Amino acid sequence: MRQCLTSTQGGYYTTTRKKSDQFGRKGDFITSPEISQVFGELVGIWFVTEWMAQGKKSNGVQLIEFGPGRGTLMDDMLRTIATFKVFAKSIEGVYLVEASEGLRESQKRVLCGNEKETIKTEVGWRCVSKYFDVPVMWVEDINLLPKDEGKEKMPFIIAHEFFDALPIHAFESVAPSPAHQESTTQLIDPTGKTLPPRESSTKVNPTPQWRELLVTTAPKRITPSRLSTQKEIESTPDFQLVHSKSSTPTSLLLPESSPRYQALKLHPGSSIEISPDSSRHIADFARRIGGTSTIPSQPSPNNAPRKPPSGAALIIDYGPSSTIPVNSLRGIKSHARVSPFSEPGLVDLSADVDFTALAEAACNASPGVEVWGPVEQGGFLREMGGEMRVRQLVKGVKIEDEEKKKVIEGAWRRLVEKGGPQGMGRIYKVLAVLPEGGGRRAPVGFGGGVLVGDV
Ligand code: SAH
Repeated sequence: MRQCLTSTQGGYYTTTRKKSDQFGRKGDFITSPEISQVFGELVGIWFVTEWMAQGKKSNGVQLIEFGPGRGTLMDDMLRTIATFKVFAKSIEGVYLVEASEGLRESQKRVLCGNEKETIKTEVGWRCVSKYFDVPVMWVEDINLLPKDEGKEKMPFIIAHEFFDALPIHAFESVAPSPAHQESTTQLIDPTGKTLPPRESSTKVNPTPQWRELLVTTAPKRITPSRLSTQKEIESTPDFQLVHSKSSTPTSLLLPESSPRYQALKLHPGSSIEISPDSSRHIADFARRIGGTSTIPSQPSPNNAPRKPPSGAALIIDYGPSSTIPVNSLRGIKSHARVSPFSEPGLVDLSADVDFTALAEAACNASPGVEVWGPVEQGGFLREMGGEMRVRQLVKGVKIEDEEKKKVIEGAWRRLVEKGGPQGMGRIYKVLAVLPEGGGRRAPVGFGGGVLVGDV
């Protein structure tokens, strides 16, 4: 997945396209911020409400987005935030973590406009937002994002449809092998006495084992001939999944990382997907918000001043609320499902996000955070007051422009509706990482109310 999506040689996101990018009608898929401006506006408002609830810090606020696509979401967020002057003033920088050079260019144009001066930095670009005086900076990988440990920062992190693009490992539980049964047959010595089982170096554990699913080349089923169409040749997958014949380092390690996987292991045939990259990313978010240690008796690393937990992360993506994703790797091209093993680098790959695994990894990484959700996108956007905003937008449209009104309302319905297999309001989920507070204050959109103040 990593090679296909972000390799510098022909990766799906990292190859700059001449005509259109990956998004929208001409591309391969469409995302919520591209469907309606209301999405980004409400996300912007959500961070305003968190800033208010956490004491309206007057400086050191950071806005960080992972996988910003065309930059539309951050653009809608910044336009909205600009109307909350005190909050806008508290923001010291906007950071965008983006692997694709072509998309970084698009984001720069959208967020800073063409006329603003941009500076090429060691880690990407730096320009000034077109809405208010705040620097916008890019890095291509999470490791290049400034750590700011020990300093009093308030990071507000958004990741929309980012985690589904991070690589997964897939495993299936298999019954103990026959080799094991042989090794447990009772041994009898020449006098007829039963001997203890022989210790052999190839001794197999008597319980089922995890086997990793690996990608290998597939035999070409169609021999290109003059009769086969170009489409047939292209759609024949080049690769396929096979069961590893023995344990792999990952199959011995990853599925043992959480008690959630243990019961499934005992049932041969169970499948699970695990994304260590996702855990690594959310652990970084959690440490930025909650610090590495908030226990007063423990010294912080390098005796740096301890960071009081502050900030928030909002993760919006698709995947099951509490179960472990199974067989969810998919390929998307031109708005249709295709084999994830066809046309590597030209097909978008994604997998369901395991929200419970994200929550677990966040809490394990920092004692200073708590996790809310996941809740369904439909409920979240409605609780955020989306309907009121849609009515306001419709009111602003010329009376006779019925078509435009319908587009605005239709786009909103698409984001919140729960019906059908593709109901975005149901399949997309929202998860929030907040400073630890004993679960006493529910954030807005998760059942909580707005703490009103002067913004
Ligand atoms: N959030 C956007 C785009 C989603 S597509 C939207 O909702 O429209 C996924 C985005 O993540 C793309 O911008 C892609 O280039 C970026 N991306 C994928 N893997 C990445 C990685 N490992 N590091 C940084 N960016 C990545």
